[in-house]
Amino acid sequence: MKTPQGALPSAADRPALLLIDITAAAKWPGVNNKKAVYKANDKSYGTQNTSSPEAIPRGSTRRVYYATMKKTSQHSISFDVVLIGGGVAGLWILNRLCNAGYNAALFEQDALGSGQTIASQGMIHGGVKYTLSGVLSGASEAIADMPDYWRKCLAGNGDVNLQQTKILSDHFYMWSTESSLSKLTTFFASKALRGRIDALDKKNLPAAFDNPQFKGKLYQLVDSVIDTPSLLANLAANVRGRIFSIDWKSSSLVNTHNTVELHIQSPADQTLVISAQQFIFCAGKGNAELLNTVSANKPEMQTRPLQQVLVKHKNYHLIYAHCLGAESTPRLTISSHRCADGDVCWYLGGQLAEKGVGKNPVDLISEAKRELEQLFPWLDWQHAQWSTLPISRAEPRQINFARPDKAYIDRAYNAENKTFNNVLVAWPTKLTLSPNLGNETLGLLKTLGVTPSPLHSNTDALGFLSPPAVAPSPWDVASWINSP
Ligand SMILES: Cc1cc2nc3c(=O)[nH]c(=O)nc-3n(C[C@H](O)[C@H](O)[C@H](O)COP(=O)(O)OP(=O)(O)OC[C@H]3O[C@@H](n4cnc5c(N)ncnc54)[C@H](O)[C@@H]3O)c2cc1C
Repeated sequence: MKTPQGALPSAADRPALLLIDITAAAKWPGVNNKKAVYKANDKSYGTQNTSSPEAIPRGSTRRVYYATMKKTSQHSISFDVVLIGGGVAGLWILNRLCNAGYNAALFEQDALGSGQTIASQGMIHGGVKYTLSGVLSGASEAIADMPDYWRKCLAGNGDVNLQQTKILSDHFYMWSTESSLSKLTTFFASKALRGRIDALDKKNLPAAFDNPQFKGKLYQLVDSVIDTPSLLANLAANVRGRIFSIDWKSSSLVNTHNTVELHIQSPADQTLVISAQQFIFCAGKGNAELLNTVSANKPEMQTRPLQQVLVKHKNYHLIYAHCLGAESTPRLTISSHRCADGDVCWYLGGQLAEKGVGKNPVDLISEAKRELEQLFPWLDWQHAQWSTLPISRAEPRQINFARPDKAYIDRAYNAENKTFNNVLVAWPTKLTLSPNLGNETLGLLKTLGVTPSPLHSNTDALGFLSPPAVAPSPWDVASWINSP
């Protein structure tokens, strides 16, 4: 169908088209269906931009909308649960739901994990880094069980099978450079932390620290480190056929009296109406926009911006460690990753990344280089290559911008403070807490009376939506600069 009139039916259920004037549509001869839908969705073609030659004049033609609506065929598919967003949160929940017999599907707009998950340092931690103030906080208590939970899953004995996920390191380390830690030494040896942290003697130092110039004290944590691309691939493979790419230019979330549906325009001019007992928004930072789209006001989101530093070098030491400074969060957190070209990339977070927000990347890189030269004077940084990655953590809003101490899932609320009938919103807040999020989600669904349907919907009509790939790692797409 090449005429605008022909293209209109495929876009008939798009709210934007309510504003389309038939005269404007008539300016689109030769526009195919997909482009017409795209144009209808593009605000610059809407009433705001009437100076554009292709602008849609003010005045809606509901006449056209309703006339064409009748001609559009619809196909309904219903699920128990529909997830929007395929980072670790969505994929973990999807695994739990499918294993529990739920009829569930996930829609991802980009590559899997393309927000925080692929950018994370992959640390599965038991919260010891939150004890640096010398007390076990709520955060450290809630997270303490997670390393064991993951270990069971990684061994194939947990409620999500992670046998195909690569473990980068069985341990994370923590080291102090100077006497700043003396007040913590007794605490680290205390009963509260027994089994979670061990002091290492000089004979057992990992290779990167095995140098006479290393004067600090090294601790070994129960925390492990996983390779997040393989985690995402593993989680996706477990639920093959349940994950679909979504293009919002030809899809929309439609809210009718606090009940949401997903409408997808098929290439065959069919509107696929996807309904669910519950939609779960688990799109990381994208949750705010999804909530806005359906006119939900709560829950609110907070973001924690970072500028991570990447350093690619030929020292070839793989290191997974926090360097402790004078403050209660690590001065530097280092994880190591193999680049596609075989080089090793040290990925630097911690205070360096927190305080690096908004800094000129070259200045931050100079700072990072000075830090590494000071901490590892026996390694060569002159021939390294550098890059930075600005990225934000997304979390549910907390009083005083505190760090949430467990995973979050709750119902969405509208402006009148009424709950939506079928919208939940989730943030794991940490990769580590994904199992906690899975448990909370299943618990909440049970409370809401959402149980697995005996019949699973036929998803053949969604076959044109290809499954999304796993996002590329930051070190494989970075632009590198030489040492400053
Ligand atoms: C630099 C950094 C390092 C970290 N390191 C660690 C660590 O070592 N250990 C740890 O426990 N935690 C860590 N975290 C936190 C952890 O990575 C996150 O808590 C976790 O990955 C969040 O997962 P998510 O699925 O909620 O979000 P994301 O991974 O951001 O995934 C969201 C997905 O939703 C998709 N999406 C967005 N909008 C839409 C939409 N409208 N429609 C469809 N899809 C959409 C995105 O494309 C993306 O694929 C780190 C975070 C950062 C930023």
